[in-house]
Amino acid sequence: MRKTDRALGCMIGAAGGDSLGAPVEFMSLADILDTYGENGITDLDGAFGLPAGVITDDTQQAMAVAEGLITAMLHNLTSEAVCENVWRELKRWHATQSIPFQSRAPGFTSMEALRKAIPGTLKKRTNSSNSCGSVMRAHPIGIAFANDPTTAFNIGMDVSVLTHGDDQAVTAGGAMASLISSLCAGVLLNEALETMCGLIEGIGIARLPITQRVCSLNADELACGSMKKIGLGWNADDALAMSVFAARRFPDNYHRAVCFAVNHDGDSDSTGSMTGALLGAMHGLDAVTRSWRDRLERRADLNRLAFALAT
Ligand SMILES: [Mg+2]
Repeated sequence: MRKTDRALGCMIGAAGGDSLGAPVEFMSLADILDTYGENGITDLDGAFGLPAGVITDDTQQAMAVAEGLITAMLHNLTSEAVCENVWRELKRWHATQSIPFQSRAPGFTSMEALRKAIPGTLKKRTNSSNSCGSVMRAHPIGIAFANDPTTAFNIGMDVSVLTHGDDQAVTAGGAMASLISSLCAGVLLNEALETMCGLIEGIGIARLPITQRVCSLNADELACGSMKKIGLGWNADDALAMSVFAARRFPDNYHRAVCFAVNHDGDSDSTGSMTGALLGAMHGLDAVTRSWRDRLERRADLNRLAFALAT
């Protein structure tokens, strides 16, 4: 499979999962089942007063990260250049949040951090948030640094800490970027997870205990485990853990993995988006639910960004 197929699968797959989760982000599982029937939500639906295919802040911010990376690629792909350009694009996204219909339940941490004049760095953090808001926008970094999971991990951490100061949020942003980097190079999921866990352990302490535990589940444990036991996805570690769990549970089926990742009590659009990014990177655009692809808001922009990141 070509690199661009995986990049497209990753960007469009993430947007699809985000869009599936959009109407149910703040609903309990009981309410989701009540509204959508015994299988929960399995097809795109409207949200924020907009029609089915609507994206949330997760995809908006991922696109801002992608724009920043692409500008950095034109000049100099150092961490400093990436951070400077991504910060500028995230600030630009922040400014759009007062435009009618553009605000899609943006995360509090990101909104507050982007109000400030100066970004956070590993040495000087601007808050102590461990929310998942910097992890669900990390996949474009993995695409840009495909087949270089170590660099993706380091730059993923640097980009996370722009807005999120807790060690777990920073590490999870790096971990997600490293995972996508391996998958975009055609590395198998279990091998990519092994590399990711090695990078997490390499920075000292076991910083993502829930994710690391999900990576070590055997086939029986995977088959009988439930999202409820892992978490709700509002925090960085459990959001990454739930996405890895969904990908390991349904490694060959984008639609089943993403539905599994969205139908629970917690942060459905973020776990849906991250799971969609993983499955899309693993299998390319063809694996992403066909009927969703052309309905996604800003599909043309997502295409352009995926191509530019991969080439
Ligand atoms: Mg969202």
